[in-house]
Amino acid sequence: MLIPVGLEIEVVPFHPQLVVTDDVAITDVTTLPGLLPVLILVLAGVLIAGVWIGVIVHRRRVVAKASTALVRLSGLNSTYASQVVTLPPIHLHFADAVSSKAKFDRYDLTALMLRSVLEQEHSIQAEIGARNAATNHYVEYQREVQQLVVSSLGRSLHPHVSAERFEKIEARLFKRRQMSFPTPTANIRSTVRYTSPQGRNSYSGTLNWDFDELRRGLAAARMERDRQSTAQYLRQRERSLMTPKVRSDILRRDGYRCQMCGATSREGAQLHIDHILPVSHGGTTTPNNLQALCQPCNLGKSNRFVG
Ligand SMILES: [Zn+2]
Repeated sequence: MLIPVGLEIEVVPFHPQLVVTDDVAITDVTTLPGLLPVLILVLAGVLIAGVWIGVIVHRRRVVAKASTALVRLSGLNSTYASQVVTLPPIHLHFADAVSSKAKFDRYDLTALMLRSVLEQEHSIQAEIGARNAATNHYVEYQREVQQLVVSSLGRSLHPHVSAERFEKIEARLFKRRQMSFPTPTANIRSTVRYTSPQGRNSYSGTLNWDFDELRRGLAAARMERDRQSTAQYLRQRERSLMTPKVRSDILRRDGYRCQMCGATSREGAQLHIDHILPVSHGGTTTPNNLQALCQPCNLGKSNRFVG
């Protein structure tokens, strides 16, 4: 510090009054110069780090602009941005309550789940569809990204960055700048409760489904419903085809005789027209699939087809 001579002279008369604080004055004088190198080092460090970060950021910018792969990737990203969207989880909760512990014990939570999702199949299907669309778009996106990897990645250069460094930075940025997979998620819960009469005991059972279980569960529930309605439709159609004329034709053809035991209607046997291959198994109401059977044989036969 440069202190004017005149000022220095002025300080001297005050010195005796500063005796008490002399120690402080001395230590201050000795530690400040001791701290200075540290401060300078810290400042220099910050400065170097700043410059270094600046260099890295600048290099990235240079690479990002000069890299055909990165420029095309950013184009792909903006093309797919509105399609590859991670939608929020599907949340659903179905609850049921039963009136006895026995009912609680044999309660089928999967059945509750299947029934409940089927009741809301259209809205659930729409939610699933939106998420499936996003993942399908992601697959398309990834296909195009892979094409970029083959056609453009590692093929660009810039005079200010060494080829090796350019390639490294480009590869890292290319990986980091890809859109992430729009993982579909769901939290579907079914709960059954039973509370004993005085409310002394309370039981609850829970079944949770994730997105994949929901997707598969809804598909299975729909397929089962369709199968049942198809079977019902077929039964009704085959039943309607069994006209009095078909009946009498088959009885006449079979000589009014049970085709299994030979009992005849003349002997008092009550003859039925039987589907050889049951309608429930795909059998049709056509003469080659029909036969006359007496009641005991017919019952015995249908027993064999139980299940
Ligand atoms: Zn018979």
